[in-house]
Amino acid sequence: MEALHKKIREEGIVLSDQVLKVDAFLNHQIDPLLMQQIGDEFARLFADSGISKIVTIEASGIAPAVMTGLKLGVPVIFARKHQSLTLTENLLTATVHSFTKQTDSTVAISPRHLNSSDRVLIIDDFLANGKASQALISIIKQAGAKVAGLGIVIEKSFQPGRAELDAQGYRVESLARVKSLVGGQVTFL
Ligand code: 5GP
Repeated sequence: MEALHKKIREEGIVLSDQVLKVDAFLNHQIDPLLMQQIGDEFARLFADSGISKIVTIEASGIAPAVMTGLKLGVPVIFARKHQSLTLTENLLTATVHSFTKQTDSTVAISPRHLNSSDRVLIIDDFLANGKASQALISIIKQAGAKVAGLGIVIEKSFQPGRAELDAQGYRVESLARVKSLVGGQVTFL
C-alpha cells in the first residue's frame, strides 16, 4: 500500500535492527485519513470472506480495526489487557509475551461477543513474532468461531510470526512488509 510505505519512509523511526517506531501516525498520534485508507484496503481484501466480526488487541490495533469494521459493516471486539470490574463473566483468555515490553500479559474477551457461527478477521498494527496473533487465534478457537484471516498493518518479515501463520494455513494480508531495518534503513519486500 503506497500511502503507508510513504508514511513509514517519511515518519517512521528505526530504533534498532528489530524495532520500528511509528508513533507519529499509527500507535500514539493517529493519522485518521491514513487509517481510513487502511480500513478500506482490508475491507477490499476480505470483502468475499464472509466476515461477521473483527477481533483486535488493545490499544494499537483498535484504530485500523474500527476503520475496517466501519467499511465491512461488522462489529469490532478488542481483547482487553487489564482486568475490569465490569467483566464479570467467565472470560476467554490467552497469554501474550509482548515483543516491545518483554513482559507476559493475559488478554481477555467476553464469550458474549463471539460464537460458533462467527467468521473472524483479526486485525493488528504489527506482526513480529506472532505472539499477539496466536493469542487472538486461541481465544477465537475457544469460542468455537472460525479465523477467516489476518490483516496486519506492518509486518516485519524478518521475524518468525508470518512464516508460522503461513505454516498453520492462515491467510495473512499485510499492507507493508518490512524486509529489513538494518543500518537504520527501512526496506520493503
Ligand atoms: P508479536 O506478538 O507479533 O511479536 O508483536 C506484535 C505486537 O508487538 C504488536 O501488537 C505491536 O504492538 C508490538 N510490536 C511488535 N513489533 C513492533 C515494532 O517494531 N514497533 C512497534 N511500535 N510495535 C511493535
